Amino acid sequence: MTNAKAPASNNRESIDQDQFLTILSREEALVRFEAALFPRPVPGEQRSLAHALGCALSEDIFAPIDVPPFDRSNVDGFAVRSADLASAGEAAPVRLILNDEVIACGIAPTRPVLSGTATPIATGGPVPRGADAIVMVEHTQPSGSRAIEIRRAASPGQFISYAGSDIARGEALLRAGTVIGSREIGMLAACGIAQISVARRPRVAVISTGDELVQPGHPLRPAAIYDTNGAIVTAAINENGGEAAFLGAIPDDEAALEAAMREALATSDMLVLSGGTSKGAGDVSHRIIGQLGKPGIIAHGVALKPGKPLCLAVCDGKPVIILPGFPTSAMFTFHDMIVPVLRRMAGLPPRPDAKVTARVPVRIASELGRTEFVMVSLVEGTEGLIAYPTGKGSGAITSFAQADGFLKIEALADQMPAGSQTEVTLFTPHVRVPDLVIVGSHCTGLDLVTAPLAHAGLVVRSIAVGSLGGLAAARRGECDFAPIHLFDEKTETYNTPFLGEGLELVPGWRRMQGIVFRKGDKRFEGLTAQEAVRSALSDPACIMVNRNQGAGTRILIDRLLGEARPDGYWNQPRSHNAVAAAVAQHRADWGMTIAPVAHASGLGFIPQAEEHYDFALVTARKRRPAVQAFFEALASEAGRKALEQAGFRPA
Ligand code: AMP
Ligand code: MG
Repeated sequence: MTNAKAPASNNRESIDQDQFLTILSREEALVRFEAALFPRPVPGEQRSLAHALGCALSEDIFAPIDVPPFDRSNVDGFAVRSADLASAGEAAPVRLILNDEVIACGIAPTRPVLSGTATPIATGGPVPRGADAIVMVEHTQPSGSRAIEIRRAASPGQFISYAGSDIARGEALLRAGTVIGSREIGMLAACGIAQISVARRPRVAVISTGDELVQPGHPLRPAAIYDTNGAIVTAAINENGGEAAFLGAIPDDEAALEAAMREALATSDMLVLSGGTSKGAGDVSHRIIGQLGKPGIIAHGVALKPGKPLCLAVCDGKPVIILPGFPTSAMFTFHDMIVPVLRRMAGLPPRPDAKVTARVPVRIASELGRTEFVMVSLVEGTEGLIAYPTGKGSGAITSFAQADGFLKIEALADQMPAGSQTEVTLFTPHVRVPDLVIVGSHCTGLDLVTAPLAHAGLVVRSIAVGSLGGLAAARRGECDFAPIHLFDEKTETYNTPFLGEGLELVPGWRRMQGIVFRKGDKRFEGLTAQEAVRSALSDPACIMVNRNQGAGTRILIDRLLGEARPDGYWNQPRSHNAVAAAVAQHRADWGMTIAPVAHASGLGFIPQAEEHYDFALVTARKRRPAVQAFFEALASEAGRKALEQAGFRPA
């Protein structure tokens, strides 16, 4: 058994046992899945060159012609007999009579070059009979209207490409399995080949499942979310040699889902679903698979993190996969477990992932018994690359935007210690290490200041780890600066008391903190913050939303509340936006957040206190061009204006 919650296999009562009868290791699941699918022939199909990009050749291709097909001039000049020029020199020009034709590209010569004559020829023109060299036009002089003079010798073969010198007829041009790129298409076109036989792209049907899913482009109804997996999985299939057909999102209805799955399988080589694989109300797809064909489910529950609920099945020779619902989990399991199978079915070689070695600056805890993938953001340290974990949990899709790749913690390890050197698999092979690295507390104002840098082509990476995490990173020299907003109760000042050696404070901006409520709520409208809190406390039906311990905002809330612990006090989200969403969606009636966030959500706002959002700058990195560019942007007229417009007060 593979994790703390999953008990020994004889305990049939437990929740996990009920959910996943057997959890296989990643390796075991892959072995069983592949054994049920392979070997199998890779069917071929004819494709025109224009539609063959990215396909794998299914047979060897031999050149049907010579390229070039004739002896060809490489320069503009004159076709000559080299023997005629044997005695030519600076002081001894040789005069050649011009033949009565000009060989342009595409013109077949009609007259031989006899001794003492020359024929004008263009680059790409066929060399005429009798000629064995080309003299460049720059090395000749006209001599009357019908002759030229040449003052240097020519070696036989000079400036001629002989027939077949590029590609010889019968030569093996490309081997089966070669992936067709623009270079290959060029070679095939040069040989006149318009159609090739390639491995047929497996047709893969994609279905999302869930009552809550709405397709992008349509309005979101309450409690609904956008279907992310449909788009990601479709793209990832096309990226890896498949031909994806996205069939939309099907509600969690057994009959509807079964009909959709049967229809999808009838017309495709593979079926990929997402969602509905863990045991919850309405999770039905894995039950349907049992009736779709033999042998059915191969693995349901794989010791992966994220991705445990992955379900792998083979129905009458066709792979059927249910990816976990959370997009990040869906992505990782797809790339780790499905891509190898898909590529093999598509006749493609394994994916050539680019990897780099990097140091992990912090300890990363990992669940024993599960192969864990951790997204990381790469930054340049003093001694090579540093890999920062960026994961926000398997539900977070935005961590992808911050991540350059991922590292893997093997199932048998319960952590990756701080300072470990590890291999990072890159999401794209051309990762550019950022020019500016900001690690600390995030604020939407940051995006306003960094916008001109990004537009100027600098890569800016901002990693949100909170003020204290940012300070620690800055002390270790892992970022250029750390945005912080830490209130020191003793001195009653912001930020400066927390700096320490090697760091200096650059003032940022002030953020107005205050009470948010829904406009029109008579309990708050027109009151001061103190009055508003008193009013809220006097109404037992009034629910608040708090902030997490350690947040600057929390300190303000606790000061306002004193000893009071109203309903909602223990609801402690970690961000300004979560507070605004809770109030806007009636989960709570009031909370404390910053003015720009309150206004963006259309909420009422009662100002309470200004918070100082400043930068702990690593003095040693002060002179870096991107750092200077940032502080110039911060001080600029445009930067200050943008901040003010968004509701911040530049220091
Ligand atoms: P499930 O496995 O169906 O219980 O889903 C687990 C979580 O993933 C739930 O929060 C779902 O709302 C979410 N989810 C499922 N499918 C999708 C999808 N296609 N796009 C985005 N989120 C999804
Ligand atoms: Mg679902």
